[in-house]
Amino acid sequence: MADTEVGYRQIADDTWAFMRPPGSWGQTNTGLIVGPGSASMLIDTVWDVNWAERVVADTAELVADAPITEVLNTHSDGDHWWGNDTVPATARITTSAASLHAMREETPPKGVHAFASLGAKIGWLPGPVGAMGSYMNRVRGDATFPGALPRLPDHTFETTWTIDVAGRSVHLRYLGPAHTEGDLIAHVPDVGVVFAGDLLFIDATPVLWHGPLQNWIDALDHLLELDAAVYVPGHGPLCGTAEIRALRNYWTWVSEAGRSCFDAGLAPTEAAQNLLKSSEFGQYAHWDSHERLILSMSTLYRLWRGEPPAPPTLTRRALAFADAGRYLREH
Ligand SMILES: [Zn+2]
Repeated sequence: MADTEVGYRQIADDTWAFMRPPGSWGQTNTGLIVGPGSASMLIDTVWDVNWAERVVADTAELVADAPITEVLNTHSDGDHWWGNDTVPATARITTSAASLHAMREETPPKGVHAFASLGAKIGWLPGPVGAMGSYMNRVRGDATFPGALPRLPDHTFETTWTIDVAGRSVHLRYLGPAHTEGDLIAHVPDVGVVFAGDLLFIDATPVLWHGPLQNWIDALDHLLELDAAVYVPGHGPLCGTAEIRALRNYWTWVSEAGRSCFDAGLAPTEAAQNLLKSSEFGQYAHWDSHERLILSMSTLYRLWRGEPPAPPTLTRRALAFADAGRYLREH
């Protein structure tokens, strides 16, 4: 299967990933671990109800003799759990305690839908309101969100937890707060596979919503230490350690170069634009949605000012969306 193909891809014995290239906004990869003849685990569910149905239909063939008993949500962003109503009601849903906390705070699907629909109408307006609207509409894309808040996970853990899927161990580890408050990874040692959620964006620009960034860099070091045969990112193609190192280099550069701009008194958007114009940026220019650096810089500035991490709500993200939308208009 080519990297551009959508759908299930077998990555190891009885281990699958549903790939959504190229991995832009809402194009989330999900996973499936099968214990043949017995039970299965699904990793993440997608936010677009139409895509969620497609995943359910394709999954049905693979779990015909191994019903889904376990489901995992890697973190609280809607594109990783708003499809929870499509999993069997009898399956247990697990996430980290921090992730469940963030899911309860996050703007619900109805609210995001209302913002994006408004954005589609007012996106033509000049100025920050139109820029925010057009960017919000871009984030939603053509997705249709569920009407009600989906089922929340019913089982949480603090730092590590192991789930037995018909004799196959799945090691969960909480590595946040970083991308969001609750980021966790699932390591499947019998096949050397790691499902990394959004701690890995490959060929797509990562977003720091929560921080601290050092936690994300430490999480990447942990992923490297696992030395897996295959890593499944939340967005983008399957990868190995070379791509993880590239992401680590990106964050180290953003952290150091961004901090110099902060110390020099530049505004966060100016800092991001300086980095995007620099020669160091060239090696990352082919990644999808490079304007997301503006979103990450607004989070970094908040932390450098000594403010607490912001809640995962749209109102908190609106200003950064306006800045990113304005940048896209001008470039
Ligand atoms: Zn995501």
